[in-house]
Amino acid sequence: MKLCDKVALVTGGGTGIGRAIAVLFAQEGAQVVVAGRTEATGIATVNDIRRAGGTALFVRADVSHAADVERLVETTVNQFGRLDILVNNAGIGGTGTLLAETTEEEWDAVLDVNLKGHFLCCKYAIPHLRAAGNGVIINTSSVLGCLTLPGTSAYSASKAGILALTKVLALEVARDGIRVNCLVPGSVDTPMMWEGLTDEERRAVEPLVADAEPVGRIGRPEEIARAALFLACEDSSFMTGAPLIVDGGLLAKIATVR
Ligand code: NAD
Repeated sequence: MKLCDKVALVTGGGTGIGRAIAVLFAQEGAQVVVAGRTEATGIATVNDIRRAGGTALFVRADVSHAADVERLVETTVNQFGRLDILVNNAGIGGTGTLLAETTEEEWDAVLDVNLKGHFLCCKYAIPHLRAAGNGVIINTSSVLGCLTLPGTSAYSASKAGILALTKVLALEVARDGIRVNCLVPGSVDTPMMWEGLTDEERRAVEPLVADAEPVGRIGRPEEIARAALFLACEDSSFMTGAPLIVDGGLLAKIATVR
């Protein structure tokens, strides 16, 4: 097991990629705190981990609120005595609108969760990661932080911001023994992927999304979780400030048509 005796905090751990990371980290011996806004899904993840013999706790928290994040980190340390791994995974999709039609509220909502949420979680976790020694932060960007599409301004800006935040923070905490890296997923089969689509719309869109991927299929949350495990454990001990692209080849293409 690669994460024995480690304490990991996974934001947005109730669904999708975060859920897969929480489950895999627990299988690898970590004690896992699943954080999120939605109690039902977070508790379901925790119950699955416990049924499989692992240790997990759900803490309700909105990552865009400083008071929530401070309480989340304190609860983690009070419960498990330390914090070794922070996985900043919580995020929301974009507005789907052109920039000129995007409202200030829509813009703020995306940036608050996706970018400020990363900032707040890092800020409150760092003292504990420093104290633990060999701390790890895993951020979550997206292929849309590297290449963009019309209608993705807020989401793409938030995800590009995460790539920059990852590099800056990696430099700031390198001598504290904390490594900071960033996942860059392509299309992954999670609730976010199909948000706002009817079943019929999803059936129409899914083959197009799969075909846009050079590998010809959409990624599975578990495939991103395995990349997160690599970043969390000693296998990546000389890696910091770096993006880890897990995208089925999407960023290797110069266009979305074959
Ligand atoms: P998801 O919707 O299943 O997961 C997002 C999770 O974050 C949910 O559990 C949600 O409740 C939680 N969350 C949202 N706002 C929150 C808040 N304010 N505070 C706490 N928790 C909050 O989608 P996912 O695809 O698993 O997304 C996980 C991460 O991966 C996101 O950062 C997303 O941007 C990124 N990502 C996803 C894809 C994809 O294709 N699915 C691609 C690239 C990047």
